[in-house]
Amino acid sequence: MSSNDLPALGAGSPGANLPALRGHNAALVLGLLRAAGGEGVSRLELAAHTGLTPQAVSKITARLRSEGLAAEAGRRASTGGKPATVLRLVPAARHAVGLHLDRDELTAVLADLTGRAVDVRRAPLAFEAGAEQVLTAVEREVAALLTAAGGPRVLGVGVACPGPLDHTTGVLHRVTGAPRWDGFPLRDAVAARLGLPAVLDKDTNAAALGLDRARPDGTGSFGYLHLGTGLGAGLVLDGSLYRGPHTGAGEFGHQIVQLDGPRCDCGRQGCIEALCLASVAGGDLPGAARALGVGAANLVELLDIDQVLLGGRTVLEHPEPFLGGVARELAAQARTRGGGSGARPAVSVALAPGGAQVVADGAAELVLAPLFGARRPTLRPR
Ligand SMILES: [Zn+2]
Repeated sequence: MSSNDLPALGAGSPGANLPALRGHNAALVLGLLRAAGGEGVSRLELAAHTGLTPQAVSKITARLRSEGLAAEAGRRASTGGKPATVLRLVPAARHAVGLHLDRDELTAVLADLTGRAVDVRRAPLAFEAGAEQVLTAVEREVAALLTAAGGPRVLGVGVACPGPLDHTTGVLHRVTGAPRWDGFPLRDAVAARLGLPAVLDKDTNAAALGLDRARPDGTGSFGYLHLGTGLGAGLVLDGSLYRGPHTGAGEFGHQIVQLDGPRCDCGRQGCIEALCLASVAGGDLPGAARALGVGAANLVELLDIDQVLLGGRTVLEHPEPFLGGVARELAAQARTRGGGSGARPAVSVALAPGGAQVVADGAAELVLAPLFGARRPTLRPR
């Protein structure tokens, strides 16, 4: 293990304009404290799970306590020795703001260190109207959120919006349906307007990150499919969010499933997004669900994921037809695989926990996650 003073967010890393919050080893310890919840964890357990020496753990936990991030949570009997002092995370010690900029609505959450939203605000938004209107709305809603919370210590702002965009530079590309944003440095503009560090990602990636960090077991792979004003996916593969080198992964809606099909807002024809949105507009929910299910089955064929999670306004308004339609296509896909009596069951589909707030919660997690290490640790016996 290297020095305690390595920045948790290395130079050139996606969140590099967030300040270097903690050392790498402190992030490991904070991650375990977060995983332990209110029950807390002893210094010896922290040492066992991080591979750090007890002395190093004591030094780190002393610093975390002096900064108010950790606190003593009583004593617990330990095998053969004196009762061990248990430490826990102090959820309200710091906060993060998560912003979901949808095409017609802004959702802002204030999350504590556990990722729990302690407050949420919603306001209409005309995303395609351009930067000035959007930044004004962001400033107004964030100010209201922070005032209502009595001026909490905020680590930064996570911004999630429709793609495509570049997560590493914080610059928007030709957003489907809102091409005027192409080339706009939204991350830096938000940071300058609010005077807070900011990080930018696609709505689907933010949601998938938040969903991943909230899972009881951080292994395995899933796809989060978001059907609202557009259609996209967030991918968690082998326990890590997969963005691709250009934040181009998960452009699920623009896979072409019908050659020479209807024109899509992206400029091509027969995209699954165009088919889905056309079916929804025509009141044909089973048709939309079938198209979504075909895409989900393609995703399973391509990436061998374990689970499909559905979210987005259109799905939340009519969950049953979408869950049913996607389950049918996944079952059909599983039947083609064979395997006899040992055949794996169809990949499961469920609504993503978090409802309409899943993207905004995930946007806050964009800020919080680096504080707790790149991958979520578990406290399972080693
Ligand atoms: Zn398209």
